[in-house]
Amino acid sequence: MEVGTLYETHIEKRIIGAFQKSTSLPTIVIIGGIHGNEKAGIIALKNVVQLIEKEKINIKYNFYALSGNIKALKNNVRFNTVDLNRLWTEEIISKITHNNEEFVEDIEEQADIYKTIKNILKINKGRFYFIDLHTTSAKTEPFITISDSLNNRKFASNFSIPIILGIEEFLDGPLLTYINEFGHMALGFEAGQHFDNQSIKNCEAFIWLSLINIGCVNKKVVTDYKYYKELLSKISIKKPFYEIDYRYQINKNEHFQMKKGFLNFDAVAKNDVLAICDGEEVKSPINGYVFMPLYQQQGDDGFFIITKISQLWLKLSIIVRKLKLHHLLRLLPGIQKDKNNDYILIVNPKTATFMAVEIFHLFGYRKQVVKDNKYHFIKRDRKVTPFK
Ligand SMILES: [Zn+2]
Repeated sequence: MEVGTLYETHIEKRIIGAFQKSTSLPTIVIIGGIHGNEKAGIIALKNVVQLIEKEKINIKYNFYALSGNIKALKNNVRFNTVDLNRLWTEEIISKITHNNEEFVEDIEEQADIYKTIKNILKINKGRFYFIDLHTTSAKTEPFITISDSLNNRKFASNFSIPIILGIEEFLDGPLLTYINEFGHMALGFEAGQHFDNQSIKNCEAFIWLSLINIGCVNKKVVTDYKYYKELLSKISIKKPFYEIDYRYQINKNEHFQMKKGFLNFDAVAKNDVLAICDGEEVKSPINGYVFMPLYQQQGDDGFFIITKISQLWLKLSIIVRKLKLHHLLRLLPGIQKDKNNDYILIVNPKTATFMAVEIFHLFGYRKQVVKDNKYHFIKRDRKVTPFK
């Protein structure tokens, strides 16, 4: 099915497919189209579900395929009033659960997705895996985004595609970060450009390989297993980890135009002109790689700059986290533990200089919010707790 001519007929339903085996077994939830102009994930989920049903493929665990922003998908826009992937904060969720919000369209959708996931997690007690399928406005090879927890890293490393850590430090309220905070593996897969048919194939490949890696499906029963495996191994950039160092924020009513021709992962040097915003040149503040340059109208992330993470850093961070050395951070001046939350360190801005931020990252903490002039660093590795 072509992305351009799709799919009036099959986006009315939140649940595209549900295969419930046993409440004690692992559960996999895969969602597509949380951005309504990103249809590849939805089409791929639909294709996978159809094939499972047609070929009576044995699904050994619980597997749910969900659709994201149904109204935005129908209108073929990223969102109607607010970005559905920037709303997953405690504050907004509490409004949903207390039903005291005048719901705008996108929040209605959020409330329904929230209830659906909550119900799935209420019934099923086994290990939980969450995958969120996206596409980008710029041309790109597939890549994975995760919050930097060890369980996320481990799962993402099953694939030989680039892995980008730390997006939660730059975006408010993505769904996968919210789910991650309950200790579950949660990962975003970016399949390619919005209207490229290859993005559908990449999503299908990622869905099948994920189900196989988790043990939900036996690879022998997936006829195209080899093809899918090859498809996601053809990536020219081999299995590196990257970290986001910079995000260009487009403010309200600003006219932002990315310079033509940037591909995702293109190398850029400090002071290279990347875009024009309200007539002014926008330059890269550092050497690195341009990431998710914005070539569409909606959205306020102009571009990101990412840099490669060394193998040494990756290994060292595993060691310090396994040894639980993060307790030492609390002994430093200007750092206190949040009394109400074991995973939060409250840090004096003077302490949170660039070098210090790198140390927090090593120990698995990411800067997330500024409250009362203090930084809150939030630990990404955590125990599984009930979904709220
Ligand atoms: Zn998206």
